Amino acid sequence: MTAGAPRRGTILLVEDEEDIATLVRTYLEREGFGVMWVSRGADALLALERNEFRLAILDLQLPDADGLDLCRAIRESSALPVVIVTARDEEVDRIVGLELGADDYVTKPFSPRELVARIRAVLRRAEPEEAEATVVTGDISLEHGGRTVSVAGRQIELTGREFDLLAYLLTHPGIVMSRERLLERVWGLSFPGGTRTVDVHVAQLRRKLDRPDLIRTVRGSGYKVAS
Ligand code: CA
Repeated sequence: MTAGAPRRGTILLVEDEEDIATLVRTYLEREGFGVMWVSRGADALLALERNEFRLAILDLQLPDADGLDLCRAIRESSALPVVIVTARDEEVDRIVGLELGADDYVTKPFSPRELVARIRAVLRRAEPEEAEATVVTGDISLEHGGRTVSVAGRQIELTGREFDLLAYLLTHPGIVMSRERLLERVWGLSFPGGTRTVDVHVAQLRRKLDRPDLIRTVRGSGYKVAS
């Protein structure tokens, strides 16, 4: 186990495969996260007892423990966000993992980029206080806390994903967002061919908000909210 107390915001990485652990750790650290790596379930429990983590990444197959038991133990005592890492054919384990209260999962083999996107999405949901409480653009007002949006004082009914998409666009005014970036940041996914989902949600937002000029289409690039 890594010596010393982790910095605030440290991620606990529980993974017995050293190659994967090194890759993930290097990538996360490059992205600005602190990482404590342990390779055994027993060490993970000890680390969880002694430290406050921001998020845990759990490999399901550990030499001395079942990652699902670990997930259950975490969920019984805290709301710590958990991202499960599992082998491709563990379909049942995946579902059980989510039923046990894991926040998300990635399947091996995964790209570190995909994992980081998932982690950021999970943290955004878990730590909404990081965002500005209220964002106002023209006559549109978005409240992160209550997850409500109003136009000219009238509250608009949005789905969770529509809200997340609008919140992301409104908090990054003047920046052209590609569909891939929106998928990664709002949906926490990166897959080719899935960008049509973004178009559908943008269309829904335009219709519901009735402010067609708010989200502009930037031809060949993506979408942008005027600054
Ligand atoms: Ca393993």
